[in-house]
Amino acid sequence: MKLQLPNESINTKTVLLFILIAYLFALSMRYIWVMDIQGISSFYWNHALMINTNDGYFFAEGARDILSGAHQPNDLSPINEPISLLTAWLSKIIPVSFETLILYMPAFIGSLIVIPLILMGRTLGQTTLGFVAALLASIANSYYNRTMTGYYDTDMLTIVLPLFALYFMLLAITHQRNRFLIPITVTFALYQWWYPQSYSVNTALLVTMLSYTMLFDRTNHHFYKIALFIIIGILSLPIWIKITVALAIFSFFHFRPALDQKWFWALFSVIFIIYFATGGIDPIWGQLKAYLIRDTVSDNANLHFYNVAQTVREAGNIPFTVFAERISGHTITFLLACIGYVLAVIAYRPLLITLPLVGLGFIAMSAGLRFTIYAVAPMAIGFAYLLLLITQSIEKKWLRSIVVMVFTSVALYPNYLHIKEYMTPTVFTTKEISGLDQLGKISNGEDYVISWWDYGYPIRYYSDVKTLVDGGKHSGDVNYPASYILTQPQQNAAIMARLSVEYTEKGFETNKSNEIISSMLKDYKADSIDDLMVNIQLNPQSLPKPTRDVYLYLPLRMMEIFPTVTLFSYLDLKNPANKPEQPFFYMTQSIQDTGKTVELGNNISIIKEKSILKIGNQEVPIKGFYQVGYDQKMKLQINEQHFASEGMNVIFMSSYGRFLIVDDFYLNSAYIQMFVFDHYDPKLFEPVLSDPMSKVYKLKV
Ligand code: MG
Repeated sequence: MKLQLPNESINTKTVLLFILIAYLFALSMRYIWVMDIQGISSFYWNHALMINTNDGYFFAEGARDILSGAHQPNDLSPINEPISLLTAWLSKIIPVSFETLILYMPAFIGSLIVIPLILMGRTLGQTTLGFVAALLASIANSYYNRTMTGYYDTDMLTIVLPLFALYFMLLAITHQRNRFLIPITVTFALYQWWYPQSYSVNTALLVTMLSYTMLFDRTNHHFYKIALFIIIGILSLPIWIKITVALAIFSFFHFRPALDQKWFWALFSVIFIIYFATGGIDPIWGQLKAYLIRDTVSDNANLHFYNVAQTVREAGNIPFTVFAERISGHTITFLLACIGYVLAVIAYRPLLITLPLVGLGFIAMSAGLRFTIYAVAPMAIGFAYLLLLITQSIEKKWLRSIVVMVFTSVALYPNYLHIKEYMTPTVFTTKEISGLDQLGKISNGEDYVISWWDYGYPIRYYSDVKTLVDGGKHSGDVNYPASYILTQPQQNAAIMARLSVEYTEKGFETNKSNEIISSMLKDYKADSIDDLMVNIQLNPQSLPKPTRDVYLYLPLRMMEIFPTVTLFSYLDLKNPANKPEQPFFYMTQSIQDTGKTVELGNNISIIKEKSILKIGNQEVPIKGFYQVGYDQKMKLQINEQHFASEGMNVIFMSSYGRFLIVDDFYLNSAYIQMFVFDHYDPKLFEPVLSDPMSKVYKLKV
């Protein structure tokens, strides 16, 4: 069997038709999510479905601020992020609401992946191959998950841009014309601007190009030019400088071909020196180190904080089938794609330049699922090639087309099933958003809203305020005060709320916004946080003067993660080895009344007549029993009974159908007192918003 396929002669019109069909296919698959959830009214805001990725609210905040032309200093709004700039620009020219724009951007932009794939196929004389690969890649699990409707994030272009870069490299390798050099620089420069972390992939592509030249065609002058234009694209310089340099060198080569040979290596050396002078491989080392050496604690001034990496465990070994399905939709498709890829690279050697993407995708086996997305396109090419290779012996053209179509559909099917099942909810619900919207109306852009970091970006987007922590700022030291405020009694919470806000703002001026706890301890000459609290309670005037309003945002949804929230401040900062036993918290919605007992799952039950709790084999007295619920006028009613001086507290939240079993630590926490019981100290807090989904209090100190 001949490995190279006979060249297809397909005219430009047909290529465009292929692109149109593949693009509409990718789009329509991204409409399934919309059709399936559009009936759910709690997913709407401003007459549009809301987005389904938390980080999206970060970029949306930036775009909103770019459009409004103003934002507050140090509000962390990303007004220079490329995706925010693109969104703001699009919203000026596309006549849809901002909400609709950010909802559909990932679908419309992510589906562009089909274009470079079909064009790569065409460059090899195999447009059908590109077409089949485009269909498969556009909806393969991991690519779909991160470019689905509502997944408003940088992912919408992080694969499209390098594929365009690869397409132009392939064009330049195949046709060896100077004119393909400029788009190489432009796509690399755009990719690096859009996604600065792409520096390593880009450098890997450069190394691949140089190795390719050394191994197969070391006397080919044009190949060195390709490498040169890649380097220009990835220099750590502003994008317009890189494009200007590329244009200048291109004109030089083009209009003075004689000088090209003479001066090329001098130019090459100069650009190479600039590459090393402006960063070289240092950023790559930085990234590698971050992956290889996972710090478990973030320390400053001898304080040991609890790090997020200990709770967010995306990385780690993943089962092979999951890995394969993420890349190709099904293990069999993936295995065929691997074989096809090897054969395709043998048949079409220039495809070797896609190796860095394969490598990065396969890193997922040890570095975490997020990397699989890179291998999607090369593996789709592999599958498409194998399919065309196997069917090339079918002589009747129409029969071969049908066979190719059938097998392509079979490969697409598991991906389609995945899309049908992948019903991601929106980040927040309408009720919660209307609370945040109201909060935005009563607050000021300089005010702080304190909550857990998971809600930071949406709070900032909907309420336009500042936050202590968010999806990008949540290391152990900045999480500490947020955790402390939510889990401590109100007196301590109020003091820490004022301190952390004022110290955070002051920290921006002194560039020490990450050392706020150590600064507090130093300023108050305190040895520990407990010490600090005693100092301030004895001398309340020593609390910093309020420069702005501070609000506590307490959502129902935080209850599920409340024990995790606690981890960040329930620790000994000075002595990490001294690990205190974590306080007791149990929440359940599985409730079964058997008459004599109430079964609460996980071997926990209430023995009614003895008024005790059975946790495993242990019998624990019930200290207090609280029934809390809204009456018909939506007024909170609390009934409480006390049985013992020691033991656990049982809270039945009747309106939510939930039981909580907590020790005194949790019972007294600001969150449980103020959210569950509406108990607040009027000297410290003032309620400003209250509904069953979220409660907001304003700090009075
Ligand atoms: Mg702002």
